[in-house]
Amino acid sequence: MPQLGFGVWQVPDDEAATAVATAIEAGYRSIDTAAVYGNEEGTGKAIAASGVARDELFVTTKLWNGDQGYDATLRAVDASLGRLGLDYVDLYLIHWPVPAKGLYAETYRALEKILADGRARAIGVSNFLPEHLDVLAAETSVVPAVNQIELHPQLQQAGSRAVHASRGIVTEAWSPLGQGKGLLEVPTVAAIAHKHGRTPAQVVLRWHLQLGNVVIPKSVTPSRIRENIDVFGFELDDDDLSAFAALDEGRRLGSHPAEVN
Ligand code: NAD
Repeated sequence: MPQLGFGVWQVPDDEAATAVATAIEAGYRSIDTAAVYGNEEGTGKAIAASGVARDELFVTTKLWNGDQGYDATLRAVDASLGRLGLDYVDLYLIHWPVPAKGLYAETYRALEKILADGRARAIGVSNFLPEHLDVLAAETSVVPAVNQIELHPQLQQAGSRAVHASRGIVTEAWSPLGQGKGLLEVPTVAAIAHKHGRTPAQVVLRWHLQLGNVVIPKSVTPSRIRENIDVFGFELDDDDLSAFAALDEGRRLGSHPAEVN
């Protein structure tokens, strides 16, 4: 799985085709979509038109909450593959645990089935709290490859990252740029960017990479799409990393996973 990919949440289907095409051209090889984003078709069109071999691309999609349950999940996977125009996805995730329904372990067993069938090359989860991972460990067989969670310098998620490391689960950061709201204007971030002759978005993405996160920034602006992947030619030093560590304020931009029903 590439450590840096391209996210398409809130990108309408027709714009997704253009944005994903721009991203693939810029060098991204990993795309993160979801059934609920409503842009699997546009994403699939861009993949088909890209001319890049399927096995060089890493495509992730996610099961929406209303489709949890064993049989409904199997149907939803096929519907997503149909919209994407693909025989398999590289990674299939349960989008939210929805603990109030109590279906996520059963749902995960359907993911184990699609893994065995080859409809997904890897399976995992999103927005799972450590307690939900404990349930999967007790009741299912395959360790999730990934847990995709909200993570950015103002919500550093040290607890979840430690749990993932101990269980062999990769941490994938959603809203890695804090949705572009505020984080990129924080003076500490601006100062680190200035010091390296880079942009705030680039130093934030570099922070993720050096922490070991998989990261999937979103943009529909071609210059930003290119800027966000141009983060491999410099390195943050210990002073920068300490300054980033001090920005954690436990600030969530999205919903709390225990409360999404
Ligand atoms: P993000 O943190 O990637 O921020 C995107 C926004 O930041 C853009 O809309 C733009 O306003 C701004 N931006 C992007 N590049 C910039 C640049 N170079 N300079 C200045 N501003 C820039 O937010 P996101 O879209 O919420 O998260 C990224 C991806 O994570 C999503 O597209 C989606 O694939 C995934 N995601 C998953 C979940 C989940 O529940 N699993 C939830 C949210 C997002």
